[in-house]
Amino acid sequence: MIIGSHVHFNKEQILGALKEALSYGANAFMLYTGAPQNTFRSDINLEYLEEAKKLMIENNISMDNVICHAPYIINLANKEKIDAWNFSIAFLKKEIKRCESLGIKYIVLHPGSSVKHTREEGIENIIEALNYVIVDDSKCMIILETMAGKGSECGRTLEEIKMIMDGVNSKNIGVCLDTCHLNDAGYNMKEFENFLDEFDKIIGINKIKCIHVNDSKNELGSHKDRHANIGFGTLGFDTILNIVNNEKLKDVPKILETPYINKTNEDKELVYPPYKFEIEMLRKRIFNPNLFDDIRKYYK
Ligand code: FE
Ligand code: FE
Ligand code: ZN
Repeated sequence: MIIGSHVHFNKEQILGALKEALSYGANAFMLYTGAPQNTFRSDINLEYLEEAKKLMIENNISMDNVICHAPYIINLANKEKIDAWNFSIAFLKKEIKRCESLGIKYIVLHPGSSVKHTREEGIENIIEALNYVIVDDSKCMIILETMAGKGSECGRTLEEIKMIMDGVNSKNIGVCLDTCHLNDAGYNMKEFENFLDEFDKIIGINKIKCIHVNDSKNELGSHKDRHANIGFGTLGFDTILNIVNNEKLKDVPKILETPYINKTNEDKELVYPPYKFEIEMLRKRIFNPNLFDDIRKYYK
């Protein structure tokens, strides 16, 4: 199983991200090239990159299993503040270059929120922007994440994702599934085979390049987008186990974006990463009802 989690890029850049992933027993990982919330980015350090490449070979981790995520504030759907829209386009062009220099092949992108525009207009804006950003011969592909449909988010149905992909002149575009978002958008993950059939008819299964594996705090169709730890949400452990073990998606990296754990039941500060333990549960195929306590014991 190709599985990992969201990791940090701040210390030693990709080398630090890789070391964090290895500490979770992962063979895949996803990083933001800086903070997820902002667009400040420092230059790529080639020494860290060379060392990371060596360590990846030693640990049998392929560059195909390293994913980049564009920052949240990038919004291609809203053209109202034209400067922000232009900035988003310029940022993504640079992000593609950064990923190319790192050897990263996929950038996950939230399609965007239309805000005061209609969803149809939002989708047109996304298409226009992506046609500036995406080039055919790039080794790095933008992959659109399926969204929960919170507020005016575009990409909450497979048809919306398909509309964007059809409007883009290049075929160098793919999809990232997010199991929490799909549930919240109204797609029943408990009938994953049916969902995959539908996906295949509308978009084509070969377009799936990454899967965000998250449980959800909310009911089917709630349009909320709040991630839960594996087996502690409305999807449940067996549903998620079934998804990550799907034969048709066996070569697709699975990335956890589940919430950190607080130190005690009472305090609210989320400090401990759950990924080592969640990866272990999914590999062993056994649910651990004491997950939170085991994590607290391990990191304290
Ligand atoms: Fe995302
Ligand atoms: Fe996600
Ligand atoms: Zn989410």
